[in-house]
Amino acid sequence: MIVIGGGLAGLASAVALADAGFRVRLLEKRPHLGGRAASYILPGGEHVDNCQHVTLGCCTNLEEFYRRVGAQNQIRFFDKLVFAAPDGRRGTIRASALPPPLHMAPSFALFPLLDLADKRAIAKALLAIAHSGGSPADLAADCAPAMTMRAWLEKHRQTPRAIRRFWEVILVSALDEQLDRIDARYGVDVFWKAFLSTRGGYRVGIPRVRLGDLYEGCRKALAGRGGEIQLRAGARGFLIVDGRVDGVEREDGSVETADSYVAAVPQDALPQLLPAEIVEREPVFANLRNLCASPITGVHLWFDRKVMSEPFLTLLDSTTQWVFNKTQLYGDGGKGAGAGGQYLQLVISASYSLSARSRQEIISLCIEELRDVLPATRDAKLLKGTVIKEMSATFSPTPGSDRWRPPQKSPIARLFLAGDWTFTGWPSTMEGAVRSGYLAAEAVLSEAGIPRKFVQPELRPEGLARLWSRAT
Ligand SMILES: Cc1cc2nc3c(=O)[nH]c(=O)nc-3n(C[C@H](O)[C@H](O)[C@H](O)COP(=O)(O)OP(=O)(O)OC[C@H]3O[C@@H](n4cnc5c(N)ncnc54)[C@H](O)[C@@H]3O)c2cc1C
Repeated sequence: MIVIGGGLAGLASAVALADAGFRVRLLEKRPHLGGRAASYILPGGEHVDNCQHVTLGCCTNLEEFYRRVGAQNQIRFFDKLVFAAPDGRRGTIRASALPPPLHMAPSFALFPLLDLADKRAIAKALLAIAHSGGSPADLAADCAPAMTMRAWLEKHRQTPRAIRRFWEVILVSALDEQLDRIDARYGVDVFWKAFLSTRGGYRVGIPRVRLGDLYEGCRKALAGRGGEIQLRAGARGFLIVDGRVDGVEREDGSVETADSYVAAVPQDALPQLLPAEIVEREPVFANLRNLCASPITGVHLWFDRKVMSEPFLTLLDSTTQWVFNKTQLYGDGGKGAGAGGQYLQLVISASYSLSARSRQEIISLCIEELRDVLPATRDAKLLKGTVIKEMSATFSPTPGSDRWRPPQKSPIARLFLAGDWTFTGWPSTMEGAVRSGYLAAEAVLSEAGIPRKFVQPELRPEGLARLWSRAT
């Protein structure tokens, strides 16, 4: 087997196929594994993540993948979400002993950053989602056209502050898109899977190590079956004869052959690996141009002293959305910030407003916002700051975008597709990428006449959420 692309989709398909007994060669064009969820060394010597990546308790396939490659202990789960308003006040959301979907109700009732009218509106909309088992009737598949999340929230009479301080805060970071560009089905699904159907689905999992360290076990998994991972090994294109792949040409001009090929490259890279006439002829490939990309900006700041005590914070009413206390999360004393210093990583999803702004402008804006929520930054010295803009961070979950996402079995014989953008039922996330890799491995094995399941089931609804989802 040949897998092209060493992001999570390629790695997941490669280790699954190796586990099924196949010799897998994985070709990755960059000098490191992980794709968009990678880490690397900056010119100044700091080892940084491309951007902070978090998982949630409901990401069952990613969790299983980490277990499969021996990285499960490197993820630490948090069950307390702390929100910070620009006036410095904090509010906390966490699960109680009540059965889902009521488990968050006590902390939500006491949450100080929303008022009664906001909470009443939110509770009504959340109950509508929970009562329908995550599939409200007004979003049924046969309802056309697909609705945006903002339209759905307005229909369900959400107050402007409920939208801004609750729905937008969660969804813009979960789906990397603005509410008026999100398909409401994706938005509702986030709340059902993470916050309503189970007690633990919302728990935030954060790596204790650099992202690249999570993939060490993949090499061993492939080597155990005689396979290997090659870095700086870009593919130039597939050789297609009579409707089937006969080989893959590498950037160095050599040709490799295999029984099957998994293309696990981003959606805009795949058409470049195929003859133009095939891309135009096959809607599966031609339609990929309809999938739009959305940006994420990561801001890395190294301070000369401790400025934050929480492991991470969600900011309300500001451009900066999340702040991660990397020094505390790594437990390594803040490499790069010197002893006693602190390294923070800030995340801004759907960061369209920052695309034309300079790195210095972005750093100044973020520092200004931090002064309000982390007063210790006012006296601290910023030792260094770096901005990483990912203009094509994820595909945009616009209304109806699912119809452009192809299945993992392609119309070309021996060619299988993986990537967060293939059809998985999940948005563009690490969970979606791993699912796609497992689905591609299942498709390869099914074609070979030895079907096997790799995809993990979703968490089963619990408590009242279970009763209600059965009744729908
Ligand atoms: C800034 C940022 C923050 C994010 N935050 C989160 C988060 O907190 N939680 C979350 O779940 N998701 C997050 N995501 C999304 C997540 O990173 C992606 O959904 C996931 O990593 C996609 O994996 P993939 O394997 O499908 O694609 P990719 O990671 O893009 O992998 C594709 C690989 O193919 C390689 N490749 C391309 N062309 C060739 C070629 N010709 N030959 C060989 N190799 C090739 C690329 O180098 C790359 O390694 C974030 C993404 C970004 C960019």
